[in-house]
Amino acid sequence: MKIDDLKQSNRVEDRRGQSGPSFGGSSYGDSGMGGLLLQLLFSRGKGKWFIIAIILFGLFAGGGNIGDLIGLNSSQTAYENTYTPSEVSDEDAIFISKVFASTEEFWTQEFKKEGLVYNPPKLVIYDRQTQTGGCGVGSASAGPFYCPGDSKVYIDLTFYQELTNKYKAAGDFAMAYVIAHEVGHHVQNELGTMKSFNQKRQSISEKAANALTVRLELQADYYAGAWAKHVEGQNLLEAGDIEEAMNAAHAVGDDTLQEAAYGQVMPDSFTHGTSEQRQSWFMRGFQYGDIRHGDTFSANI
Ligand SMILES: [Zn+2]
Repeated sequence: MKIDDLKQSNRVEDRRGQSGPSFGGSSYGDSGMGGLLLQLLFSRGKGKWFIIAIILFGLFAGGGNIGDLIGLNSSQTAYENTYTPSEVSDEDAIFISKVFASTEEFWTQEFKKEGLVYNPPKLVIYDRQTQTGGCGVGSASAGPFYCPGDSKVYIDLTFYQELTNKYKAAGDFAMAYVIAHEVGHHVQNELGTMKSFNQKRQSISEKAANALTVRLELQADYYAGAWAKHVEGQNLLEAGDIEEAMNAAHAVGDDTLQEAAYGQVMPDSFTHGTSEQRQSWFMRGFQYGDIRHGDTFSANI
């Protein structure tokens, strides 16, 4: 994808190099302190005086109270040793920021066509783990995700390498597809689709809920494709870009992932759609480039 003439997004929070929720900055809230404590206890374990010192330090440094410190919950056990040193250059961050800005431009325009106002999300670039506003502690090992609670897309740039090495989906546009897919979830949040999805999901079986989740995911793929048409219209696509996105959509299909992980496919547990479904909804988005043709909930998927 040609990005030289694109501007960067001004809605990016770069949290890289921050050690975790507690010491990263004031925006993380109190809940991270328990996580820090847990991490230190597990990784060091130097006896109770050390622990007391940590608690006291936590009180002064974090401004929390003992309740916050000992109020550990299961999501905070995410503080395991999953950290792998990031090898990405800032070039990757610039690319992602420009793609993100491009989605903002596109969706603002599309919402306007529908008589709606688009409130764009924010992008958080982080490493290791970070506190989200309503989705617990985001962990890099979980891959990129969107948090509806704070309307932010979270990404650890090591995923860029993972796409190439682990998922065999190389290329800048593979990464662009991933970003556009996450932004697609924000579009669903803005349009109220996510809210009705969450309401429906509560009163149905797990199997039916999985099937509904597949439709939500395929719609995000459709929206990613719609954005791709927008950049094609701006003459920003390079040879092979769409193939890169299709390859990535194939690589992260549930059947392909399950096949690789378990050697078999379990359709009832699908939550993202098969490789073929994901590719075909991305291509449909690329064909129409609008909001209207992306109703995966009533379509025969
Ligand atoms: Zn998704």
